[in-house]
Amino acid sequence: MCFKKGIKLKMELLEGKEVAENLQKNFIERIEKIKKEKNIIPKLAVLGISGDKASEIYIKKIEKNCIKYGIEFILKMASTQEEFKENIKVRKVTSIMFQEPLPKNIANLINEIPAKQDVEGIGIQNMGKLMLDKKDALIPCTSRAVIETIDFYNIDVAGKEVVIVGRSNIVGKPLIPQLLKKNATVTICHSKTKNLAKILKQADIVIMAIGKAKFLKADMIKDNSILIDVGINYEEGKIVGDIDFEDVKQKVKAITPVPGGIGKVTNAVLISNIISSCECN
Ligand code: NDP
Repeated sequence: MCFKKGIKLKMELLEGKEVAENLQKNFIERIEKIKKEKNIIPKLAVLGISGDKASEIYIKKIEKNCIKYGIEFILKMASTQEEFKENIKVRKVTSIMFQEPLPKNIANLINEIPAKQDVEGIGIQNMGKLMLDKKDALIPCTSRAVIETIDFYNIDVAGKEVVIVGRSNIVGKPLIPQLLKKNATVTICHSKTKNLAKILKQADIVIMAIGKAKFLKADMIKDNSILIDVGINYEEGKIVGDIDFEDVKQKVKAITPVPGGIGKVTNAVLISNIISSCECN
């Protein structure tokens, strides 16, 4: 296994900042090209149902990021499901994002917008395209952030045992085709997995995405494994991942931190997807 940075420490920190900066390098150029050649100004609409404080903070972050790159931004928070249904008829936007939490019947309305506007890549069409390795698939941002991190740090997953814990539509499931494409041997675990401890012990690379603070401990992994922590949890006023960083750090070859890991990259991937949604217009 080789990394971009020299391995001086026993454990390497796979920081998201550098991955995100690398992704952001061509954003301005790509946006200028769209404006010039297609006469399109990227515009994101975030649609949600009001009332969730945590998502309001997240939306503010997205808005700030959009403004930074000259992407227009509108927020439509509905008070009722009926109002939400009206809001998805929003016109003159290039990109649409549904802000969770949403009732399932409302979340499913993502399939009523054109696939090229579904910048989170969570609709049926984009998921199908991802499965079939179509070039114009918009890929769920967090799953893509994991792959971007793997690529940036030159982590060779071919032939490796990669265990994903968590089977959500935004992380675990879309990671399967992306890792298979890289010739990894992929195992996916979830809350009903019976022999999780045994499976984890065999993993060269573990990707944790379950939303349980500090769940993964040193005694659950093998020596020199690589750990990718997608989890974002709040514990005693602090953000922590699904991995007990302090407990595992002496045992691993490399690990993503929380905060400052996959979350940072996810924000950059969202902007990249917004730009892609205009490029394929
Ligand atoms: P979901 O709640 O949608 O899915 C959680 C998954 O974890 C489910 O598949 C569930 O299994 C599984 N799971 C729960 N408990 C266990 C357990 N004890 N053992 C094994 N599997 C378990 O979560 P998300 O995918 O939306 O998010 C996961 C985490 O990632 C959260 O902390 C979230 O905040 C974070 N996140 C981070 C992002 C980032 O940018 N870094 C972006 C999005 C999410 P089952 O299916 O059987 O219920």
